Amino acid sequence: MDSTFNLSQLAKHFSDEDAARTLLEEVRWGKNCEHAACPHCGQMDPYRLQPKEGSSTRKGVWKCRGCRKQFTVTVGTVFEASHVPISKWWLAIHLLASSKKGVSAHQLHRNLGVSYQTAWFMAHRLRYAMAQGPMLELMKGVIEMDETYVGARHKRGTRRGRPGPDSHKTPVVALVERGTGRVRAFPMPRVTSENLKAALVAHAEPSAELMTDDYFAYRSVAEGQKRHGVVKHSNKEYVRGTDHTNTIEGFFSLLKRGINGVYHHVGRGHLNRYCDEFAFRYENRKVSDGERAGMLVRGGDGKRLTYKMPAAS
Ligand SMILES: [Zn+2]
Repeated sequence: MDSTFNLSQLAKHFSDEDAARTLLEEVRWGKNCEHAACPHCGQMDPYRLQPKEGSSTRKGVWKCRGCRKQFTVTVGTVFEASHVPISKWWLAIHLLASSKKGVSAHQLHRNLGVSYQTAWFMAHRLRYAMAQGPMLELMKGVIEMDETYVGARHKRGTRRGRPGPDSHKTPVVALVERGTGRVRAFPMPRVTSENLKAALVAHAEPSAELMTDDYFAYRSVAEGQKRHGVVKHSNKEYVRGTDHTNTIEGFFSLLKRGINGVYHHVGRGHLNRYCDEFAFRYENRKVSDGERAGMLVRGGDGKRLTYKMPAAS
């Protein structure tokens, strides 16, 4: 797929299920399916079974030369065992990969002509494909770290900022590597120095500089880091030289507009998936929508969700 790949082309070309399957094969396995591998035993170089007139062989079936088992392009991916046509999956992929603020299950339900329940499952499977694995390389250079609170709104008249212990909001902590825009975001039910420190150590080199605001929990977090730049948000100070947390606040504003606007209410149990979704789009915001859609698909390789799609979908 190239940068000219867009929704209208999808609509034109991929209302055709064969073309949609072929595109999925190309995106996962390469233009000539040269990277195709058996999902059962891992052997490369499977061959395509040609459906013959009157035979029961479906289109898109491959056979492994090693274990002799058959498979299709959806086996071993988030699309496995779904009754939704691949062409509809492509539309959902494109919508989720390209819209800055995300797409609600209601929108998918209306745009794809599937039930609300099916749309919900599709969105969750695609979010799972967007989940990031462990970092291959820890963040370095300058890292901004902050937390925000998402979910149920404050009552009118309560102060803005960090909510009290009885709030229904859930804290989300994120780290952004300045310059590259690499980001990790996750719910943190208790924002304590210990938990923040563990998150920093898991994601950043000790040689990195840390930028935070002056929330007290960050004071001991930066111990062992090269430097700790602090902006005193409590004094309405937002920038001091190169010390600021504007990058991460930009990310949080997208996350919050998405979660509070499109998704309205995100259950705490699913919040990590929404964090993954916004982090995925943010990290890959400089590539074209088509490339991002391809990355989303390849991110689903080897992933399967434990919950099943509704049988009627
Ligand atoms: Zn095999």
